[in-house]
Amino acid sequence: MRSTAAISLAAGLLFSSAGCSTHPAVTPDRELSDAALHEEFAEASVRLYVQRQARLLAVNYAIRTAGADLCGDAVGPILGIAAWRSNPLFGRAFFEALERSYGVWAGSIAVVAVQPGSPADRAGIRVGDQILHVAGAAVHSDVDVFDRAAAFETGAIPIGLLRGEREIRVAVDPLRACRPEAFLEIGDLMLTDRARGDHFYVTSGFIRFAKTDDELALVVAHELAHRISGMRVIPGPQVEVRADRLGLYLAARAGYDISIAPAFWDRVAVEQPWSLSDDVEHYGWTRVPPHGYMPSRAAAIRKIVAEIQRKIENGKPLQPGKI
Ligand SMILES: [Zn+2]
Repeated sequence: MRSTAAISLAAGLLFSSAGCSTHPAVTPDRELSDAALHEEFAEASVRLYVQRQARLLAVNYAIRTAGADLCGDAVGPILGIAAWRSNPLFGRAFFEALERSYGVWAGSIAVVAVQPGSPADRAGIRVGDQILHVAGAAVHSDVDVFDRAAAFETGAIPIGLLRGEREIRVAVDPLRACRPEAFLEIGDLMLTDRARGDHFYVTSGFIRFAKTDDELALVVAHELAHRISGMRVIPGPQVEVRADRLGLYLAARAGYDISIAPAFWDRVAVEQPWSLSDDVEHYGWTRVPPHGYMPSRAAAIRKIVAEIQRKIENGKPLQPGKI
């Protein structure tokens, strides 16, 4: 850094003494360089955030659209967007970079990813659009956007947007899919049942941990399964195996490779040793460690995968039967 600054300083002096330019030379100011670097970091961080949103959207869109008939009454129109949600953790540098890169003001509800070919894409919704109202009512949060759209019963869903300075309206043709949305949450791997309304979240840690979309699909499908009616009973290994069963069928329906599931959940368990505990007396059934990975659950996952693979090989429909 120091030598670069010295060179810039020398160049600046050279130009000014030769009278070649009336513009002030680039100030070889250490502080300025650091500020520029800081802005670059923040912009890289924004890009990473948007990439993760887009990746999560692609996976959850594929699963929710392919598995609509497995979601019972938890179905409704899907939009195919990911929306920005402010989080004070990000800090001012991130918010400024978000506005510079995407025109998204931190306090707004805006589109940060659009799934290609989705209803939103076909209606012309773009990244950076601020969402003002959905189905005739103002929206106050990202959850609001999806709840209002999902509750819309017939015809195209009217959505009001602010694009730059211009207010525009689009009509989104509905596509029936599993209703629960996947939201990106900043955090480590651990998933809990801290769902948001009908919806669920996947942590940034899990998105990073999932090396491929096949792995990410296992997480998304399992969490989606928990949000489907009848799955939110007393926590414990039984409900985990039921979510595994429905989740594996949902992931397979969307064309993801589920043969990797046993090894993936093994990896998760190693990462979260508390999930290996089956000490019910210590935790109690209502406080079973998140995603308890008892031997019975690991064995069940292997059996379900084999069952689905047999169906795929024999060209049988992927119906999980009674969950
Ligand atoms: Zn679970």
